[in-house]
Amino acid sequence: MKITFLGVGESCDENYPNTCLWIESVRDGHRSSVLLDCGFTAPPLYWRQIRDPDDLDALWISHFHGDHFFGTPALLLRFWERNRRKPLVLMGPKGVERIITSSMELAYPGFFQKLNYPLHFREANSRESLVCSRMNWSFAQNIHGQESLAVRLDNGKHAVFYSGDGLFTEETISLAKGVHLAVHEAFRLEGHTPGHGSIYQCIEFGRKACVQRLALVHVQRDERRGRHEEMRRLLKEVEDFEVFLPEPGDSVVLSPFSG
Ligand SMILES: [Zn+2]
Ligand SMILES: [Zn+2]
Repeated sequence: MKITFLGVGESCDENYPNTCLWIESVRDGHRSSVLLDCGFTAPPLYWRQIRDPDDLDALWISHFHGDHFFGTPALLLRFWERNRRKPLVLMGPKGVERIITSSMELAYPGFFQKLNYPLHFREANSRESLVCSRMNWSFAQNIHGQESLAVRLDNGKHAVFYSGDGLFTEETISLAKGVHLAVHEAFRLEGHTPGHGSIYQCIEFGRKACVQRLALVHVQRDERRGRHEEMRRLLKEVEDFEVFLPEPGDSVVLSPFSG
């Protein structure tokens, strides 16, 4: 499984694009390609990686804040322009079909009906797991300004966890148990920000969930700039697992890549 951090930023960062992960996974010889979140800045970063309009199998939307889903109309439009034929799964919390359909209608009126490839909407909730793109998907609720779901993807050999936005809960800790890579939002270095995690809190999360590696994303822009040295020092002190601040374009390969 390969995880590429197309973006690692919060909503209004002039330097770091919105948090968006591109997952490539191989199971039984079949490759799957999945995007986790698609904010305003995400589509061009994905297009720079791959031009094939049929590459993407599924898009996961953790919650309906613009930095996590407002890129979807551009993504769907370009697939239409490039004559995509393959079905696309759009998955997210309750309301995903209504919200994506109306955002497309606002952005490009009349285009939704013209799409020449099928869209399959799937609503996720913390009570049931599902299978999509040859991976098992399970979900848990975290604490944010609106419903926001953390997701765990498992391809039978490797498992990855992505928090979306929000502070962890007992439910998300158990969802992340033992994953090879957890990606968690950490809005501040320390203290309590309603609806968000801090780097200190996320380290506690990683320890409780016994994750192998922890990537911290969605760091508030001024804090990332002004307290970068403090963050670096703190992360270096963590010895029981690896914790890091990825840069846009970085990737992690959970080897062997054939898994
Ligand atoms: Zn956000
Ligand atoms: Zn949010």
